[in-house]
Amino acid sequence: MSVPVIAIDGPAGSGKSTVARGVAQTLGWSFLDTGAMYRAVACEALFKGLEIHDEVAVATLADQSEITTLPRVTINGRDVEDEIRTPAINEAVSVVAAQPLVRRAMVSRQRAWAASQSEGTVVEGRDITTVVFPDATLKVFLTASIEERARRRGDESASSVARRDEADSNRTNSPLRQAADALFVDTTGRAVDEVVKEIVACLTTHR
Ligand code: C5P
Repeated sequence: MSVPVIAIDGPAGSGKSTVARGVAQTLGWSFLDTGAMYRAVACEALFKGLEIHDEVAVATLADQSEITTLPRVTINGRDVEDEIRTPAINEAVSVVAAQPLVRRAMVSRQRAWAASQSEGTVVEGRDITTVVFPDATLKVFLTASIEERARRRGDESASSVARRDEADSNRTNSPLRQAADALFVDTTGRAVDEVVKEIVACLTTHR
């Protein structure tokens, strides 16, 4: 690994993106939202009229598409920033993300992306601490109560959040798991700044 990586995993609404962005900003590092990448692939698959269960077709798309997550989420030049948060994509993304060939394409993109960074990077998702960067400088598992997670995902129904959690935690390939050596942080009722400070402080002891 060429640059230091902070890997953050956790279920939907645990605060991963907000906290990861805050940690990256504090350290002057880059930030990668891997959920946005899977969502962009799901959008493009639907846009192209692919059958989302067609693993080879979706993986080929994942492999060959141009994806950006910042400043906006785009795939093959198409801005999908708003579309990726719609109910149709909340539904399709866990199907797409459960496919091993799709994951393989995404994991290799995520590693290549980190290798191209000049400073450190903060990467968040579901398999970042366990599969993508098992040797990360610091691994963090974020969670929060189901009520708080559903409330934070105000744009997504509680049943949709619960369904995605269930799919992400029980799939055969790279299920959401807490890495044994990850810092466990329950963000329920805690301010973002406070969680960011805890993670940054913990980094100092891990370097
Ligand atoms: O983080 P976010 O909720 O946007 O992720 C959307 C979906 O993408 C998750 O529910 C999961 O199915 C998938 N995902 C994944 N692995 C990652 C990041 C996201 O399987 N590293």
